[in-house]
Amino acid sequence: MTITGTPELEARGLTVEYAGGDRPLPALRNIDLSVAAGEFVAVVGPSGSGKTTLLNAFAGFVPPTSGEVLFRGTPIRAPSVERAMVFQRHALLPWLNVVENVAFPLKLRGLDRRRRREAVTPLLVTTGLVDFAGKPVWTLSGGMQQRVGLARALAADPAVLLLDEPLGALDAITREDLQRVLLDLWASTRKTAVLITHDIEEALFLGTRVVVLSARPGRIVAAFESPFAREVAAAGGARKVRASAAFGEAKAGLRDILARHAVVGAAA
Ligand code: ADP
Ligand code: MG
Repeated sequence: MTITGTPELEARGLTVEYAGGDRPLPALRNIDLSVAAGEFVAVVGPSGSGKTTLLNAFAGFVPPTSGEVLFRGTPIRAPSVERAMVFQRHALLPWLNVVENVAFPLKLRGLDRRRRREAVTPLLVTTGLVDFAGKPVWTLSGGMQQRVGLARALAADPAVLLLDEPLGALDAITREDLQRVLLDLWASTRKTAVLITHDIEEALFLGTRVVVLSARPGRIVAAFESPFAREVAAAGGARKVRASAAFGEAKAGLRDILARHAVVGAAA
């Protein structure tokens, strides 16, 4: 894919070090990454490779030690509603029902009830929550709660979704369902997204591009386009795509890259 114009998100020579005991602890080293509007970048890497640090830098929570992070060409210095974060453990308001949770960011912005309803209804449809709209969220399963978390992140219409292993705590079947929901949300809104995952299949199924980080400190060791998300978005057939020979080959290839770079001290 050719990237034209200013990228939505960009890391340039991004290095992040945390204060350690005697010396700083490097988490990310010299990351160069451009994310164009509408791209869905899946970042995979072993535990401790700086994946969360990378998202936190894009969110504006963690400043670069050197290099820079930019949103639409402007250095990121603080969090913004333009860049919504979704975590593995969502922070829903348990005493509110589904629609109230999803619409909460809009209430904070002062939208009246009718306009809040109008704005969130398409999100409830895409996330399969319409029949649950009036239920208190504490009565829902983990998978349903994560749907609420995704819908709420999109309610304020951010430019960018930053997803830190949002499906990591779910069982395999629920996880596949939610991957489909995430794909449908991306296909219907064409948001720019950066997804952190340690799941090879998830990265290939959702990412239009897959980026692989080495073990700590994280460096980019591979980056490639992945066709499957666009295929499913255009023509459906998620099951068929997952079962295809091409998907199987891509999985084996990515597993191989990770095996070569995931281990601390592995060759660069
Ligand atoms: P990942 O999400 O890939 O597991 P993280 O970005 O959470 O990796 O962490 C990368 C490295 O930085 C790890 O070694 C972690 O222990 C360390 N780290 C993360 N956050 C902090 C922090 N706030 N202070 C000190 N060290 C941290
Ligand atoms: Mg993490």
